[in-house]
Amino acid sequence: LRTGLGMDVHAFAPGRKLILGGVDIPHHQGLDGHSDADVLAHAISDALLGAVRGGDIGKLFPDTDPAYKDADSLKLLAEVARFVRERGFEIIDVDSVIAAQAPKLSPYREAMRENLAAAMGLPVENVGVKATTTEHLGPEGREEGITAYATCLVYRI
Ligand code: MG
Repeated sequence: LRTGLGMDVHAFAPGRKLILGGVDIPHHQGLDGHSDADVLAHAISDALLGAVRGGDIGKLFPDTDPAYKDADSLKLLAEVARFVRERGFEIIDVDSVIAAQAPKLSPYREAMRENLAAAMGLPVENVGVKATTTEHLGPEGREEGITAYATCLVYRI
């Protein structure tokens, strides 16, 4: 058994879509980034790569590569899941938490779980998504950006 831990941060920017767990969430601003800036998909990707000692998504999908401009991060997550299996591991479970002061994310939680589970080839029951505000503290609390954390459990086949 191996565990993995992932974390990612993206800053808000005007004129961007807010994509979290592959869900396009209505908001007056979105997250800045080379890809679609899906901070949750990125944190989960890094947790999976950490568990198999496979580097990180910056190494796998460099932001200097035009191929990943505005990339769909669910597709990147699917590639990461394939990479995990190629290295001889199966994914058991993934859990995550999003730190965001706004918008309210609970209405989108189930859709995010379904998207993420489908991307990784997992049952929805094995993918957790939670959201919390930071009580107006810190960069998330000042609505400067969103942070996501993820853990995973994998086993060597
Ligand atoms: Mg990122």
